[in-house]
Amino acid sequence: MAHPQPRANIARIPAYVPGKPPVVRPGVTAYKLSSNENPYPPLPGVVEAATAAVATMNRYPDMGSVALYAALSERLGVPVDDIATATGSVGLIYQVVTGFCEPGDEVVYAWRSFEAYPIAVTAAAATSVQVPLLADGRHDLDAMLAAITDRTRVVLVCTPNNPTGPAVTQTELDAFLARVPEHVVVVVDEAYLEFVRMADAVDGVATYRAHPNVVLFRTFSKAYGLAGFRVGYAVSQAPIAAALRAVSLPFGVSAVAQAAAIASLAAEAELLERVDALALERTRVRDALLAQGWDIPDAQGNFVWFPLGDRAGDLAAAADAVGVTVRPFAGDGVRVSIGEPEANDRLIEAAATLR
Ligand code: PMP
Repeated sequence: MAHPQPRANIARIPAYVPGKPPVVRPGVTAYKLSSNENPYPPLPGVVEAATAAVATMNRYPDMGSVALYAALSERLGVPVDDIATATGSVGLIYQVVTGFCEPGDEVVYAWRSFEAYPIAVTAAAATSVQVPLLADGRHDLDAMLAAITDRTRVVLVCTPNNPTGPAVTQTELDAFLARVPEHVVVVVDEAYLEFVRMADAVDGVATYRAHPNVVLFRTFSKAYGLAGFRVGYAVSQAPIAAALRAVSLPFGVSAVAQAAAIASLAAEAELLERVDALALERTRVRDALLAQGWDIPDAQGNFVWFPLGDRAGDLAAAADAVGVTVRPFAGDGVRVSIGEPEANDRLIEAAATLR
């Protein structure tokens, strides 16, 4: 029987490989360090707000997410018109290519980086231009500039970079933006923003105010621990935000997700204390691995990267053996999220067995 054929580009969409769930064995606590999730359970106040919203599930959510926009606007000190919420920040990645690329237009980004980039670009029938990272896992911004052509519509800058860890500095970003043509949208994907602890960190809000072509992508999934609820938001000058809203999935942020995001902003101080603890754990883990002799790039997100090449599977297997699941990228490396101290300890032990 003949089946209807999807567009030719659909067959070229790479698969998204979700982080492996924990491997449960009797008597061994299993830990999942494979999806850059926040290991802390939700705050009671956030659960309460979300639970109250469950009672409205026979109704569509507020499509304009009015209360969430107001809360973000106040928190960030930016106009409501400069914000676009989305179904996770992956939703924003789809929206920016849908909103700005004709078929065949080019999207420049570093590689390896977040695996949803090639998926969204290919789904939109746009063309990925992948620029290899520097040896230390940082973006090669000069090479990315050189890769921009007349067909380039979007550049994605992932900072900190998932999965390698380093972040772009404000000085580097300013020099880059000064040379990017104005018709090119520059996405600064700040999914891990709250974990950054370095000198000259990017001030996203000041940057978008100075650049009509810059859009920040942020998420409630990581620092705020709402990965399961799918809430992301973009911040840019109003015209880009309007385009992102225009192509958004109608009702794409559920009432439960909106309520949880608003409650999380209200509880931000407590959530950011947890982020501080995770950033300290990250330093502890990276220092322990460096002391073992591993070459671990600077880690500014809630994860560390082992550039293991063909030996990626070995570390994944060693971690599995102690009840910790990690995220291997075949032939390239292994990304390990920062989790509970006990999980991090086990990962450090597993890594030691390979030295
Ligand atoms: N950007 C980057 C760099 C990420 O690593 C992730 C999540 N892994 C996202 C965006 C998407 O996050 P979400 O859709 O949960 O907001």
